[in-house]
Amino acid sequence: MPTYAYACKDCDHAFDIVQSFSDSSLTECPECKGSLRKKFNSVGVVFKGSGFYRTDSRDSKGSTVSAAPAASPAAAAAPAPAAS
Ligand SMILES: [Zn+2]
Repeated sequence: MPTYAYACKDCDHAFDIVQSFSDSSLTECPECKGSLRKKFNSVGVVFKGSGFYRTDSRDSKGSTVSAAPAASPAAAAAPAPAAS
């Protein structure tokens, strides 16, 4: 049976679960009852990864910004909000 990976949109709780093809997809997060997003087994496309990286680079302001100028245009288009 295939293993499905889910991630919660609300609390970022992520987990894998083995389901048969006939089982219906999970939609509710077991942690916070939020909305789940089904992911695929492959780690080829992980949008959450880039978001985490952006947060990380924001913390260490100045040290990693110049490392990859053209790698993430989305990050450049979404500047960190001024003091929030
Ligand atoms: Zn959750």
